[in-house]
Amino acid sequence: MNDILPDVSGTWRYLESVVRDIVQSYGYAEIRLPLLEQTELFRRSIGEVTDIVEKEMYTFLDRNGESLTLRPEATASVVRAGITNGLLHNQKQKLWTSGPMFRYEKPQKGRYRQFYQFDVEALGYGGPDVDAELIIMCARMWRALGLSRLTLEINSLGTSESRARYRETLTEYFSGVKNALDEDSIRRLEQNPLRILDSKNPDMQAIVTAAPVMLDFLDEESSEHFQALREFLDAAGVSYTVNPRLVRGLDYYSRTVFEWVTDALGSQGAVCSGGRYDGLVEKLGGRATPAVGWAMGIERLVALFAACGGEAPAADADVYFVAVGNDALEQAFAIAEDLRDKIAGIRVESNLGGGSFKSQLKRADKSNAEYALILGEQEIADKRIGLKPLRSTEDQSSIAFEELATTLAKLLRKA
Ligand code: ATP
Ligand code: MG
Repeated sequence: MNDILPDVSGTWRYLESVVRDIVQSYGYAEIRLPLLEQTELFRRSIGEVTDIVEKEMYTFLDRNGESLTLRPEATASVVRAGITNGLLHNQKQKLWTSGPMFRYEKPQKGRYRQFYQFDVEALGYGGPDVDAELIIMCARMWRALGLSRLTLEINSLGTSESRARYRETLTEYFSGVKNALDEDSIRRLEQNPLRILDSKNPDMQAIVTAAPVMLDFLDEESSEHFQALREFLDAAGVSYTVNPRLVRGLDYYSRTVFEWVTDALGSQGAVCSGGRYDGLVEKLGGRATPAVGWAMGIERLVALFAACGGEAPAADADVYFVAVGNDALEQAFAIAEDLRDKIAGIRVESNLGGGSFKSQLKRADKSNAEYALILGEQEIADKRIGLKPLRSTEDQSSIAFEELATTLAKLLRKA
């Protein structure tokens, strides 16, 4: 679990704000959810035979003996909230949420025990159009952030009926090579052979690659759905590869699944993953409601942004107020408030903790501010203020109090 320190938090805020603004621009609204849910919710939604439920959940009993779990992902909570708040009665919902998720994983680069996700869910939409738009939205984010080295993989898992047929064939296949399966896979063979395809064990890759693929078992409707998705993506100019082995680590998916992966971050290459989960709402006690969504790992987004040479806009102060003595500082505070009122977005840092004129100017320089505002006895008497450019050799000038805001707004191009 990491502390996100001030030297990187600016980049986090920037990335989160770009992602949020884009998602909002597609008509999605924020939903804020608790970090804790009843353990049962995740068991039922994510599935018993998954990495998360088998070994990654932070689960504990509360004082009342009730089993609670720190959320390992957001989709289950979004669906739970949709049901308990009646958001899904003859309504569609386009929602986003973000925040920390918790998984007891083996910590390594790009894999943490508390990590952050940005999560988008469309509930009540059954068609391939929304699947496509959710992916097109991601492509827009990558462009806006200047991210390259991301490729899109898509697959279809069909319906639960077509998957049942596939499952039989898969069980047969894996039973035939049982001697070569690892321990996890042998256990999963009985309970959930599709999970074997999600194995991260390199020794298993050859067997997994040679396995029969779901795409050959799709029912007609799922096949058409997948074809339509591909056509929407083609028309939008979003390129992709069909990866028939993409199954995703959760049980609740159906039809479309996708993953944006990068080769820039070593083995933790999944940046944004999603898919359709048409059966989940009903499974959790709501009325049958098709749904689709994706989740993006913020740590991996931050890392990829850096790997692509991205830099968040600087958040340094615009002006640094130099004021010697408490009388001058009182005036400086008042003028600074006035500037904040009049110039939207201006960043004014007032000198705190006293100090001589010279030491204050030094701090002004270190603050990276564009200008120092200087208020001494003479300036107060004249009702003027000294304006000293800190990043150029231009001379200091003197500006009447009442003209300061207009002058600064022009200089800082904030008007
Ligand atoms: P992986 O295959 O890397 O374990 P996953 O399939 O478990 O990923 P999801 O449950 O789909 O991941 O979560 C969505 C996204 O959240 C991932 O694509 C990834 O960017 C991020 N993510 C998942 N687990 C972690 C983690 N432990 N630390 C950091 N980011 C994570
Ligand atoms: Mg995982």
